Amino acid sequence: MPAVSKVLVVGGGAAGVATAILLAEAGVEVDLLEIKPDIVTLGSGITLQGNALRVLRDLGVWDDVQKAGYGFDTLGLRAPDPAGTVIAVLPDARTGGPDLPAALGMPRQELARVLHARAEDVGVKIRLATTCTGIEQDATGVDVELSDGSRGRYDLVVGADGIRSWTRRMIGVPLETRSTGMGIWRAFTTRPDTVTRTDLFYGGPQYIAGYCPTGQDSLYAYIVEEAQDRSALTPDEQLSEMVRLSEGYGGPWDEIRPTLTDPTRVSYTWFESHVLEEPWNRGRVVLIGDAAHACPPTLAQGAAQALEDAAVLAELLLTSDAVDATLWQSFMERRYDRARAVVEASVQLGQWLIDGERGDVPGLMGRISALVSEPA
Ligand SMILES: Cc1cc2nc3c(=O)[nH]c(=O)nc-3n(C[C@H](O)[C@H](O)[C@H](O)COP(=O)(O)OP(=O)(O)OC[C@H]3O[C@@H](n4cnc5c(N)ncnc54)[C@H](O)[C@@H]3O)c2cc1C
Repeated sequence: MPAVSKVLVVGGGAAGVATAILLAEAGVEVDLLEIKPDIVTLGSGITLQGNALRVLRDLGVWDDVQKAGYGFDTLGLRAPDPAGTVIAVLPDARTGGPDLPAALGMPRQELARVLHARAEDVGVKIRLATTCTGIEQDATGVDVELSDGSRGRYDLVVGADGIRSWTRRMIGVPLETRSTGMGIWRAFTTRPDTVTRTDLFYGGPQYIAGYCPTGQDSLYAYIVEEAQDRSALTPDEQLSEMVRLSEGYGGPWDEIRPTLTDPTRVSYTWFESHVLEEPWNRGRVVLIGDAAHACPPTLAQGAAQALEDAAVLAELLLTSDAVDATLWQSFMERRYDRARAVVEASVQLGQWLIDGERGDVPGLMGRISALVSEPA
C-alpha cells in the first residue's frame, strides 16, 4: 500500500505535474491546482538537460518531447568578436544516460502541453484558475480550502507553486530569495539553419549571450546583463533594447537579429536564487521544485532539479507505508545536498563573470555533470 491515497498538488509547472503523473499512474487520487487560467500561454524556450529528459522518459512523455523539441550533444563556445569565432565545441555529457541526448531545447508551452495531456490521460484532476486559500493539518491529514469555495481533505499537500510559493508562506516557512545581480533578455524566434546546438558567448559587451534551438523552426536567444530596472520600458522599447544589445555579437547572431521583430516574444527577468534548509516538509505539506530551491539558469538545471524532486518524492510515497519521519529523512538524503550543489554552482558561474574572475568553468561544469549523471 502506498503511503498516500489522496494528494493535492498546488502548481502546474514541471515539479507539480510530474509528481501528479507518477502518483496518479500508481492509482493515487490526485487533484492539481493551477492558478493560471490557461497553461498554454506565450513563453520562451527551455533547455532540458539529460537528467531532466531521464525523468520525462519515466513519465511516459519522451516521444512527445522529442517530437516537439530539438536535441543536441555539443556545446559551442564563441568569441564576442564580429565573426562570432568558434573557440571550442565541447562534447556535452549525456547526464540522462547514453540513449538520451545531452540536452534538448523546446518551447515552454509545448512542455506544459505535453505534461498536462499526460496528466489528464492518467486521471489527474486538473483545476485551472484555482488555488489553495487555507491549510490546516493534523496527524492524519490536511484540510484545505480552495479559491472556488470548495474544501477537501488530503493525505498530503505538495507545494509546487514556484519561486514565490504561496504554499510556503501559508505554512509559515520564511525564505529569502536573492537577486544574483544579473538580468536576462530572452526572445523566442526563428531558427536559422546554422544554429544546431547551444552556443555561448562569454564576455563582450554583456556577461553572456547565447541561443538554444527549440525545434526545426524555432529557437530562443538570450543576453545576460547586469540586473537593472527595465520595468519602465514598453514592449517595443524592450524589443529595441534587446536588438541593440545583440549588436555586440556576431556569427549566427547576425542571422537571428533581423528575426527579432515581435515585442510579445521578448521578455526580461532577473536571476534569483534560494535554497530552503532541510527539511522541506512541515508535517504533511512538502515544498518541491522552485518553491524549495531556485537557481539562475547558468547551468540550465532548474527544471531538471524540479523533475528529480518529483520523481524521488513519488517513488518514496509509493514504496513507503506511511508519511513519517523516515520518509522525509530519505527524501532529504536524496535531494537536499544535490539540489543545493546545483544552486551554488549555478550562482558561482554568474559570480565569476560579475567579479571578472577567471574561474574554473569547465571543472565546475564537469563536477555538476558527474553529480547529476547519477540517478537522483
Ligand atoms: C530566465 C530563466 C530561464 C530559465 N531557463 C531554464 C532552462 O533553460 N532550463 C531549466 O531547466 N530551467 C530553467 N529555468 C528554471 C526553471 O524555469 C524552473 O526551475 C522550473 O520551471 C521550476 O519548476 P517548478 O514546477 O518548480 O515551478 P514553476 O515552473 O514556476 O511552476 C509553478 C507553477 O505553479 C503555479 N502557481 C503559482 N502560484 C500558485 C498558486 N498559489 N496556486 C496554484 N498554482 C500556482 C504557476 O502558475 C506555475 O504554473 C529558468 C528560469 C529562469 C528565471
